[in-house]
Amino acid sequence: MKIVITGAAGFLGSHLCDRFLRDGHQVIGVDNYLTGSPDNIRHLADNDAFRLVEADVSAGIPLDEPIDGILHFASPASPIDYYEFPVETLKVGSYGTHNCLELARQQKARFFLASTSEVYGDPAVHPQKESYWGNVNSIGPRSVYDEAKRYAEAVTMAYHRHHGVDTRIVRIFNTYGPRMRPHDGRVVSNFIVQALTGEPLSIYGDGSQTRSFCYVDDEVEGIYRLFMNGDSQPTNIGNPDEYTVQQLADIVLDLTGSSSTIARQPLPADDPKLRRPDITRARTMLGWEPKVPVRDGVARTIQYFRQLLAESKLSTRTMAEPQAR
Ligand code: UDP
Repeated sequence: MKIVITGAAGFLGSHLCDRFLRDGHQVIGVDNYLTGSPDNIRHLADNDAFRLVEADVSAGIPLDEPIDGILHFASPASPIDYYEFPVETLKVGSYGTHNCLELARQQKARFFLASTSEVYGDPAVHPQKESYWGNVNSIGPRSVYDEAKRYAEAVTMAYHRHHGVDTRIVRIFNTYGPRMRPHDGRVVSNFIVQALTGEPLSIYGDGSQTRSFCYVDDEVEGIYRLFMNGDSQPTNIGNPDEYTVQQLADIVLDLTGSSSTIARQPLPADDPKLRRPDITRARTMLGWEPKVPVRDGVARTIQYFRQLLAESKLSTRTMAEPQAR
């Protein structure tokens, strides 16, 4: 198949390029490097089955050739990024998704949307099934991401129902692993980088909020199977193994052997208190479930950041703090 992946230079997008190329597909990556990095796809430079088109998909997708599928993974995805780029985030979820869907319609290609557990907001139902409609503050600082993705789901279903486009929607839960940026701002990368550089671990709030962390290889396998064998209904792909933020800090300190202290910081506005996917649908429809336990995945991610540190790509500056509290 010839596949277009937007956000190809991002964390998940670049791993997806690898996954599709591994199975013999051709991949056209699209990225404007707003939050992605050429480093993530440098290893594909000599691969004849891959090419990168530098473009902002919110403005249009400069491709006019037959394709079989398009996966829309372009978007700022870390809270610190969508606080910094709120309008770009809204545009890539709305105009960007619309442009991808038009391309899919014209080329009779399959469209795959990277949606998010953020569509559930601060959930009043736990764990979250796909049938839950969510609890989102439409005007809070996170709304630029949450509502963009909710709109993206709505326009995807409209193209499916009205234009008959073959569509998929994945709701991705907190994913971590190699190629996260050291200063990405997410909890796993922050804690690991802080532990490795001797900085205090920044726990926001009292650390009792939970997340369910999925190792990137598991996430990408679930996405690949959903693209190939799924249906048009939204599907949670995440690891149901749930941890408090404090427990994650303890795991990182244990696995790094770091003597970093803890520095408590205010909780960002509208920070979800609990998050855990119900993955019954993915298990039943795709025969998929995560395989990498959190301690193993965190250990592999520590290795990755240790390597960056050895190559001096990791500065010891303090992690960025969320700007909206
Ligand atoms: N968090 C934290 N310290 C950090 C970064 C994040 O305590 O340095 C918390 C954050 O408040 C949230 C959880 O960890 O409750 C996950 O945050 P992240 O930004 O990784 O993902 P998201 O909020 O999008 O789930």
